[in-house]
Amino acid sequence: MNSDRPVLEAKELTKQFSGFVALKDFSVQIPKGSITAVIGPNGAGKSTFFHLVTGLHAPTSGKVLHNGEDMTALPPSQRVSRGIARTFQGVRLFPAMTVLENVLVACRGQGRGGVGNALFRPRAFRRAERQRIEWAYSCLSFVSPSLYRRANELAFHLPYGEQRRVELARALATQPEVLILDEPAAGLSQVERKELSSFLERIAARGITVVLIEHDMRLVMSLAERVVVLNHGVKIAEGSPAEVRQDPQVIASYLGT
Ligand code: ADP
Ligand code: MG
Repeated sequence: MNSDRPVLEAKELTKQFSGFVALKDFSVQIPKGSITAVIGPNGAGKSTFFHLVTGLHAPTSGKVLHNGEDMTALPPSQRVSRGIARTFQGVRLFPAMTVLENVLVACRGQGRGGVGNALFRPRAFRRAERQRIEWAYSCLSFVSPSLYRRANELAFHLPYGEQRRVELARALATQPEVLILDEPAAGLSQVERKELSSFLERIAARGITVVLIEHDMRLVMSLAERVVVLNHGVKIAEGSPAEVRQDPQVIASYLGT
């Protein structure tokens, strides 16, 4: 098996919305264990790319490969089972559930706590439930000790920055191979951005591949190993942060300096 094979690959992805081309012939390879940033002005097609990777949208043409296998036709749930986890642009929590419950919904059943087990194998059911709860707590504490302490509060009671952390914990709870984050730093304070950055480095150190959309150039340049630049649905540059920063097309269309 070739260990250089990308964990994720887009092959000539195109997405049209009633004739409007949001993404055009976009190809990219995401190396395993890397941190890749996707940047570009508003409306460039960044979120569309993420929706195609996670299965929220079907491409008009092109393919999405995971470890070399075509997963273009798979529904989102099966992509999660394969290890593709995401967060959205803007908070998407269950506000009336506790922090812990929000993470528990994403915990894959170690031993499965289904109805059959609950009725006929109550001990196995309780053990599976305990394991899920322990796993949810460990995801919360991996993201932040303060989140762990607030596990039993309702999600909507938490300040915005903490809610975003709950989403990270929920994504982690699916035991992802690839973590896809749409503008994770938006709305965060400088201190929270630093914490996010160190969290993502810890994630990558564990071999989890990170792909993020981000507007904070300081964060992108310090964190990402590779940067992909989209403009009007087209990839205009790709490379290391240093390479991309010097690219005349990128400067003209995006960095604006
Ligand atoms: P970005 O995330 O880079 O800001 P998006 O991928 O969200 O950009 O959007 C790219 C373009 O596609 C935008 O012009 C947007 O208006 C359009 N678009 C996105 N989703 C839809 C949709 N569901 N229907 C119609 N147009 C869409
Ligand atoms: Mg977007």
